[in-house]
Formats: sequence, C-alpha cells, structure tokens
Amino acid sequence: MTMKRNLGDLAVFGGPSAFLQPLHVGRPNVGDRARFLDRVNWALDHQWLTNGGPLAREFEQRVAELAGVRYCVSTCNATVALQLLARAADLSGEVIMPSLTFPATAQAFRWLGLTPVFVDIDPATNCLDPDLIEAAITPRTSAVVPVHLWGRPCAVDRLAKVAADHGLRLFYDAAHGLGCTSEGQPIGGFGQAEVFSFHATKVVNAFEGGAVVTDDERLAQRVRAMHNFGFTQGRVSTETGTNGKMTEAAAAMGLTSLDAFEETVRRNEANHDDYRSELAGLAGLKVMEFDRAERNNYHYLVVEVDAAVTGVHRDLLDEVLRAENIMCQRYFSPGCHEMEPYRSERPVSLPHTERLARKVLALPTGPTVSREDIRRVCDIVRLTLERGHEVTRRADERVPSTTAP
Ligand SMILES: *Cc1c(COP(=O)(O)O)cnc(C)c1O
Repeated sequence: MTMKRNLGDLAVFGGPSAFLQPLHVGRPNVGDRARFLDRVNWALDHQWLTNGGPLAREFEQRVAELAGVRYCVSTCNATVALQLLARAADLSGEVIMPSLTFPATAQAFRWLGLTPVFVDIDPATNCLDPDLIEAAITPRTSAVVPVHLWGRPCAVDRLAKVAADHGLRLFYDAAHGLGCTSEGQPIGGFGQAEVFSFHATKVVNAFEGGAVVTDDERLAQRVRAMHNFGFTQGRVSTETGTNGKMTEAAAAMGLTSLDAFEETVRRNEANHDDYRSELAGLAGLKVMEFDRAERNNYHYLVVEVDAAVTGVHRDLLDEVLRAENIMCQRYFSPGCHEMEPYRSERPVSLPHTERLARKVLALPTGPTVSREDIRRVCDIVRLTLERGHEVTRRADERVPSTTAP
C-alpha cells in the first residue's frame, strides 16, 4: 500500500481502505494459547469448573501480588465487583463519581438503587477533581468512587483526605489501572478497596472477569461471602448474596493473559513511543502522556483533537479513520451525565468533562498492532489534520447520508 498523499486517496472520499482487515482498539491479549488449553484441560480432567477452584485462587494470588494488597476476590466481571463492594460496605443514597468513564461505573451503582452524583474532572489528571467533591456532598452521600482513567492515577492523597474529612467510603474503579503506580505505589492499594476489570478488551483478559482488591480483611471476607450467595461455611448463608464467581475457564485465560502481561506492556509502551514520534509537532493534536517516572500499562493510546486548530472535529477524524478500517473508539464520550437516565434525572454542567469528551479518540494499540500499522495510521491522521479545513469542507459537500443529523 502506497502512502496516501491526496484527499481523494482517503477511503472516506472514495479511495481504497488502508487496511484490508479492521484494526481494533482492545484486541484481547490472550498470551500462549497452548498454555491456556493446558489449564482448561487440567480443569476438565479434575472436573473442577467453578466455585473458587485452584485456577481462580491462583489468579487471585497473582492479582493481589501485582496490586500490592493482602486480599483479592475474583468475580465474573467488574460491574458485579463494584456492586458487591457497594453491598459489602452498606452503601446508601448518593455516590460521587466522575462522568468521564465507561458507563458501567454509574450503572453498577444505579442498578442497586444508589444515585450516582457526577463531579467534574481536574484537567491536570483527567480524573475526579478532589477540590469539587465537597460541594457535591449531601447528608445522603455515602461514598466516592474515582476512576483511574486510561490507567493514569487519580490524585489519591487529596481524594483520601476529602473522603476521610467527611467520613465517606473511598472505592476506586481501577478497571484500567492494572500494573500502574502512583508515586511508586501500585494501583490496587488506594482507598478502602479497588476494582479491576478483566473484560476481553482490558490489558489482562479473562474473557469476562473482575476483582475486588483490598487490605481490609473483613471487607474482603464479606465480598467473598456475598459473591457466593452469602455462604460463609459450606452451604449456609449468613447474609444476602448473589452469584458473582469467576469460573475456572475464565481464570485459565486470566492466568495465561497475566503470564504475557510484561510483554504486553513492553509492546504497548513501544507503540506509544512510535505514535508519539509519528505525531510529534502535529498542530492541534495531543497524544495523552503517561508519567514516565511511574509504572504504566500503556493500554490506551488516546489523542486529543482540537478542532479549533485542526479544522477537523474528532467525529470527522473518527469517520475518516473508520473508512480506512481503523476502528478507533471515542473513549469515553459522551460523559455519563449526558446519557440517560442521568441526563434527564439530574441535569448538571461539567465543563471540563464536556470539553474533553468531545476531543478524545482512542487509536489501535496492543501487541497485535505493528510499527508499520502505526506508521500507516499516523500518515492518515497527519494528512487529515494538516489539510483539516479542506477535509471538513469536502465532507460537508458530500451527498447527505441516510442517517439522521
Ligand atoms: C470496562 C470497565 C468497567 C466494567 O468492567 P466489566 O468487567 O466489563 O464489568 C467498569 N469501569 C470502567 C472504567 C471500565 O472501563
């Protein structure tokens, strides 16, 4: 494939797509398939498929180690893990959280009858702004649930102080944070507990999976009981519970994906470096940085498109790239507060969230994305943005599509 030089070469304007096969964000990091099948065969040979089997236990130990915590309870997904935590901590009323996150953060709590209260981000971290929390606290507030967005840590010290000052529980949605640190301390050990996701698209995948990690023994015990129908001894329930267990097949994948974790991070970091150098100096485009003094998993490659400078809105860049079979994602827009049911129930204005949500785009990365792929993606991004006003004009002149405005 030769480099695209003219706007007519772009697939959105009738040229051939740059990629024959779609290039996705969040391809599963499977690791060594033979090792995965060995583990599944072991489970089948021993006819131990779920109920806290040895693979799930091993997975919990390894996640606890990585997170630097004493306790880990594996779950069927992170959404249920957040709900288990809410129940185990007897949360009630309102829960303060960012709006700029995957909707699961809000939906998990709302499904339990709790009320998500969205607070704006600090543009310095793109995570929950500790200075705005106080104004959102009411007598009904029971917890704060910040999100380490894209694996970049929240302002953990300041959040801990606000939560402690007001007697609120502090639980982190660490779905993106596995293997990352804040001032050298691993994500996983902040607040009273943190929740990881091992969904297929996350940096470590267990098909579907999640975990609650904590140093609080009683909280861990309660989550463990509640994720297994409230059973503590044998089949006797001592309180209410649900079924949130991780299966052995999921744990087999989780362990195999964890085996590959270091290599995955190494490749992600190299990809991040390649994107940075390819896109360096491109006006109106910023590659989201990671603090090089910390450990990062570099799982998300996010760019910020400033339409005022480039002449191209993020949505049009997204459309241009998708036509090339480059399947980017608008992570995470719109913010939860702009989606139902929140938008109608509790209209709020969150200027920093709204501004960023309109600018961000996640580009394909991960071990299956090659340096050559990145070069080709960046060639198209550069062509589109350097001639942004022309691209926008030409897109506007197209015959209107059948989709509603
Ligand atoms: C993926 C994700 C979740 C939900 O995880 P599941 O395991 O799919 O339930 C929650 N919060 C954030 C920030 C996520 O990205």
